[in-house]
Amino acid sequence: MRNPQHDVLFEPVRIGPVTAKNRFYQVPHCTGLGWLRPKMAAALRGMKAEGGWGVVCTEWCSIHPASDDLPHPNAALWHDDHIKDQALMTQAVHDHGALAGVELWFGGARSANHYTRETAVDVASIPNLAGHPYQPRSMDKSDIREFRRWHREAALRAKEADFDIVYVYATHGYLLSHFLSAETNTRTDEYGGSLENRTRLLRELIEDTKETVGDRCAVAVRYSVGGDDGETPELTAERRDRLEMLAELPDLWDININNYYQEMGVSRFFKEGSLEEYMSFVKSVTTKPVVTVGRFTSPETMTSQVRRGIVDFIGAARPSIADPFLPNKILEGHADDIRECIGCNICYTGDGLGTPIRCTQNPTMGEEYRRNWHPEVVATRGSDAEVLIVGAGPAGMEAARMLGQRGYRVMLAEATRELGGRVAREAALPGLGEWIRVRDYRQQQIQKMAEVQVFLESELTADDVLATGADHVAIATGAHWRADGFGRSHPYPLETLNPAANILTPDDIMAGQLPSGPVVVYDDDSFYMGGLVAEKIILAGQKVTLVTPEDVVSDWCDYTSERFYVQKRLLELGVTLQTGHQLISYEGQEVRIASGYTDQEQTLGANALVLVTARRPNDALYQALTERFNETSASNGPTLHRIGDCDAPAIIAAAVYAGHRFARELDTDAGERGQPRYE
Ligand code: ADP
Ligand code: SF4
Repeated sequence: MRNPQHDVLFEPVRIGPVTAKNRFYQVPHCTGLGWLRPKMAAALRGMKAEGGWGVVCTEWCSIHPASDDLPHPNAALWHDDHIKDQALMTQAVHDHGALAGVELWFGGARSANHYTRETAVDVASIPNLAGHPYQPRSMDKSDIREFRRWHREAALRAKEADFDIVYVYATHGYLLSHFLSAETNTRTDEYGGSLENRTRLLRELIEDTKETVGDRCAVAVRYSVGGDDGETPELTAERRDRLEMLAELPDLWDININNYYQEMGVSRFFKEGSLEEYMSFVKSVTTKPVVTVGRFTSPETMTSQVRRGIVDFIGAARPSIADPFLPNKILEGHADDIRECIGCNICYTGDGLGTPIRCTQNPTMGEEYRRNWHPEVVATRGSDAEVLIVGAGPAGMEAARMLGQRGYRVMLAEATRELGGRVAREAALPGLGEWIRVRDYRQQQIQKMAEVQVFLESELTADDVLATGADHVAIATGAHWRADGFGRSHPYPLETLNPAANILTPDDIMAGQLPSGPVVVYDDDSFYMGGLVAEKIILAGQKVTLVTPEDVVSDWCDYTSERFYVQKRLLELGVTLQTGHQLISYEGQEVRIASGYTDQEQTLGANALVLVTARRPNDALYQALTERFNETSASNGPTLHRIGDCDAPAIIAAAVYAGHRFARELDTDAGERGQPRYE
């Protein structure tokens, strides 16, 4: 039974002409699907509605070809042909009694229009804010008239596609935010100068949208009450003044801050409810419903946000990705079963990469249409087989959870005393505490399953495996970091590393083997591990130099929106950063490195060298079993599989996915067919 304290979350809320059935609001978020993959997008949004979200929105939806964002796949309502794509989504959302929202978007100086080759327009001819060598045209009066017409026409298409909520999108560094800001708006006409003038275009768009579709659709405004790092107090104060000016004009305020990397910050740097300090005044200046995000996964925090009058709706992107059924789990009194977001931002990487969304916690995310995967429902077992899983990292645990859910008898053997594998180790690194949720969620589920037996301190050999008599064996024994220099910059072991020198890997550091004296960390991996290892060592009081062949630190962290904060943290802690250099040798006292551009060499005194380069699969057990099977040609022996890092070292999301897929497809023809719908 549901906790009565949470009843408030299930109250209906009126938004202009429409009513949301509860307070769970999936705010607009990118999926890497957009106009390129409308069927996948529709199935994904429909799943959120099925999971109980009262409002489900699109990603940013371009109103005109003069605002295209490829390679980032935005949604679009450029012309009438796009209506049917969006109608797929509204239909899927309405099928489950939720409201569908569309975030009409115009990029201005952020869009280089690589796909359409249209000229971008903005408040002035400012530089392209995504770093491309294209400036937009400064809008004259006829451009502004045209822009308003485009917005009205897109709103009409949205109505025809059956959306219930239509957004005016006034933040995140897109066109409207440039009109609003005194820094970028240098116009001398009635759209520039005073606060009133700079707000004119936003006001006109809200009025236009209400007039065009407001009889049936609610009009929402997405607006920032906080700026980017370093914004002047005057500009921040203006944000409040403007909100007060427009307070009653829209039907709903979707409030956030302009700094996207903070608003959707990783858990390493930003915790649950981190926007509250900006939000506290909002509801005191408007009677209209207010929504914001905060990576809310705790029903207690959500209830408190509503009761304390901070918000009317619990906004969510990531919590709804990690668990589309979060609202229903609270509704049905199963809040303990919520698969909580860990704040790793793997879901955001698809946007930068132009690829479909994936999630560390929810392996079905993005696969609702393509593989017909449902996050909560799975076929029951296809046989009475017993399955042995060796290794209880994310791959092994997810496989055990899924097989248990399907009703298989499962033995999960783990060499160490604790479950979690790499997740247990990595979650102990500075700031990564929430990552342990990957283990905790699965452990909690497995504990409820009588069919799943867990054996700790059970390092299995090939003989042990065969002695279990299991019908299917999945080897999920993970991977380890290499100590021989092999990596992206040297795809061969470095013979110039003295084996007698103090050479460590992230596995050693995570095991507590911290070096003393000056340390060089060589990061040839360029994701989060190099920076974290450097941070851990400097926090232990040692001098650290981080060397990377890349031109920036933790390059891939750009995709997870945290690179800036990683470098900021390392600089603040006093880590010396040496970019653009490759490792040449280490004999025990001096690390020799060379510029990737000039080959000029230099030496760094070091008592230890930590290599963050590449990983090697722990596949000895798998190979031994394969050999045994070959010797005996044991046709009546178990089937043998390898999953996760032991198959191919990758991100945690890939290991969870591999475990999930193995378990879901066992004894089905999906595994053999192996053909998802690639459209
Ligand atoms: P993945 O990310 O693929 O799940 P991890 O490295 O996180 O891989 O986890 C692998 C787990 O397998 C670790 O917890 C490790 O202790 C365990 N393991 C490795 N070899 C054996 C073995 N022979 N028997 C049982 N457990 C093993
Ligand atoms: Fe949360 Fe990570 Fe999943 Fe994104 S990928 S929803 S941040 S768990």
